[in-house]
Amino acid sequence: MRKIFSSALITAATAVAVVATAAGAGTADAAPVYEQDYRVAVQAVSTYWKDQAPELFGRKYVAPANRGVLEPGTATGCGEMPKNNAIYCPRDHSVQFGRDYLEQAAGSGDVLVYDVVAHEWAHAVLRQQPAGVVHKPQELQAQCLSGGALGDLVRQEVLVVDEGDEEGFAALFNRSSAPGDIHGTAKQQAQAFMTGWKQGPKACFDR
Ligand SMILES: [Zn+2]
Repeated sequence: MRKIFSSALITAATAVAVVATAAGAGTADAAPVYEQDYRVAVQAVSTYWKDQAPELFGRKYVAPANRGVLEPGTATGCGEMPKNNAIYCPRDHSVQFGRDYLEQAAGSGDVLVYDVVAHEWAHAVLRQQPAGVVHKPQELQAQCLSGGALGDLVRQEVLVVDEGDEEGFAALFNRSSAPGDIHGTAKQQAQAFMTGWKQGPKACFDR
């Protein structure tokens, strides 16, 4: 999986860093490591779906409420925030992100932070699609849509892939998963993400 990124994508991507990573680097304030990427990801992904979903799916789109970064154990519309996780809660159509999970993600390169945000948003998007087109379980489809939104954002030159991201993509594609994990094997997750990344979100609805 690494080869694709080191050749095609990295060289295809025109420039510097995923937008806005330049500012603020090196200042010694106490902002969490994920903070800037998290903010950019939320801004980019939420805007992307607001603009694109009605056109892509031919139906009204309701943006999820973003409850933001929460400590594990915080009450949510779907019970306590679990450790090391991010959740989409269908009961109140909201997304929320564990502080510990974002920290862990940021430790493997900012790509994972973007994926965490895009993945939960994807569940909110899938929730609004007709049952017949939503896979069960929907985890690999959500991963495809994460790649689809992020790939489109790169194609739209909202986000840019930089060379340091290679490591982040490798981490994304080598995430461990236990046998029977509904998120699929690392290989399945990588393939799903790449389908969306290369072909856009519509490809995530082909069987
Ligand atoms: Zn999921």
